[in-house]
Amino acid sequence: MKKKGMRSMKKVPYKIYLSEQEVPRHWYNMKAVMKNKPEPFLDPATLKPLPKEALKQILVSELVEQEYNSTDEYIEIPEGIRDFYRMTRPSPLIRAYYLEKELNTPAEIYYKFEGTNTSGSHKLNSAAAQVFYAKQQGLTKLTTETGAGQWGTALAMACAFYNLDLTVYMVKISARQKPYRKAVIETYGGKVIPSPSDTTEVGRKILEENPDTGGSLGCAISEALEVALQDENCRYVLGSVMDHVLLHQSIIGEETRIACEKYDIQPDVIIGCVGGGSNFGGLIAPFMGDKIQGKNNIHFIGVEPASCPTLTRGKFAYDFGDTGKMTPLIKMYTLGSGFIPSPNHAGGLRYHGMSPILSQLYHDGYFEARAVEQTKVFEAATTFARCEGILPAPESSHAIRVAIDEALKCKETGEKKTIIMGLTGTGYFDLTAYMSYNDGSMTDYIPTDEELEKGFESLPKV
Ligand SMILES: *Cc1c(COP(=O)(O)O)cnc(C)c1O
Repeated sequence: MKKKGMRSMKKVPYKIYLSEQEVPRHWYNMKAVMKNKPEPFLDPATLKPLPKEALKQILVSELVEQEYNSTDEYIEIPEGIRDFYRMTRPSPLIRAYYLEKELNTPAEIYYKFEGTNTSGSHKLNSAAAQVFYAKQQGLTKLTTETGAGQWGTALAMACAFYNLDLTVYMVKISARQKPYRKAVIETYGGKVIPSPSDTTEVGRKILEENPDTGGSLGCAISEALEVALQDENCRYVLGSVMDHVLLHQSIIGEETRIACEKYDIQPDVIIGCVGGGSNFGGLIAPFMGDKIQGKNNIHFIGVEPASCPTLTRGKFAYDFGDTGKMTPLIKMYTLGSGFIPSPNHAGGLRYHGMSPILSQLYHDGYFEARAVEQTKVFEAATTFARCEGILPAPESSHAIRVAIDEALKCKETGEKKTIIMGLTGTGYFDLTAYMSYNDGSMTDYIPTDEELEKGFESLPKV
């Protein structure tokens, strides 16, 4: 038990690293304590809840078990996965002293930095787990999609470590904008196919209808799924959205919680960017678990791009996870599986749907969502890079934007809030976007209601 007044005696270091003894040995499953659980997946043909066994045709069996687990609050991390985490974790929780000084704010700002590994993002936390379980099942191949490229890179690293074959369908526009990502994936032994491609039926169909398309995550998912379905030694894996991915990402939140307890840091606000929701869901997991049980009153903020405003302007409805309508129906916030974001949008976070766990929590009022414009995001990224030294990923910079906004509010009100944000990765492969910000050619695009309406028209009638 900590005595009152101890707080000021333990000075918080610039970087908090946990020792090997302190690192978490379990993931945290928020679903176990959620009052309203996410709705079940539905079979699109029958509109009945989808049995586990059907999903196991497409996905790794243990991951399906985790996906359907809404009873165990703590799930042990197997030794074989901790072997991998040992190379890349723990990640540091860093006190943004220099940013605080630059902003002249009374707020304390911390960031949990997931960009210290070669893949440059948090995606490795789930990639390692997924490939480990695939290996355990005796599978030999995996397929997946990647948008900005971080997931493909992370998965290629994990497949190299556990020795599995990997084919990555990479959104065509990203493959063009980020040739170096492709090079990294190939170096780790992964095969990269720009999507839509002529290697699958669904890809050929999309190309026929729209030959010049730059692709989308939705298309790439359909292609990767099609390939996995045709080979019994192959499964499809994905890097966000699904409950089991959030579960693996809870390692971020668990480490953060332990670091906070060690130095008696009590967060008032926790901020993360949201694409499919995995890093934000993982970062907040144990804190949200406590909030649901009435043990804290932390203000959580999920930040999304104004050009792909899934939470702030989407509908809470059953939808497909992909453009080709091959996935089960998922109850989530969505812009419609037919939504294709504006091509001027630079960095990640462009998926039409959202994690079912986060969708339910958002629907029930447990956190706030904010949409921000990309020029404002890059302005924040630049400020952050110049004072904290790290070149942040554009995705992560959505969280930086709102952390800065919150810290500036504290400056006005004099409040001494403690803010924690997730800094999900580095921006070395996003220099095209930084270049367009630097030369002033970057623009903002906010879809009109009519444009969003087109996406909503693709929603299945359930
Ligand atoms: C993939 C990615 C994201 C967004 O995905 P989530 O599942 O919402 O976390 C954010 N930041 C980085 C660096 C990423 O690679």
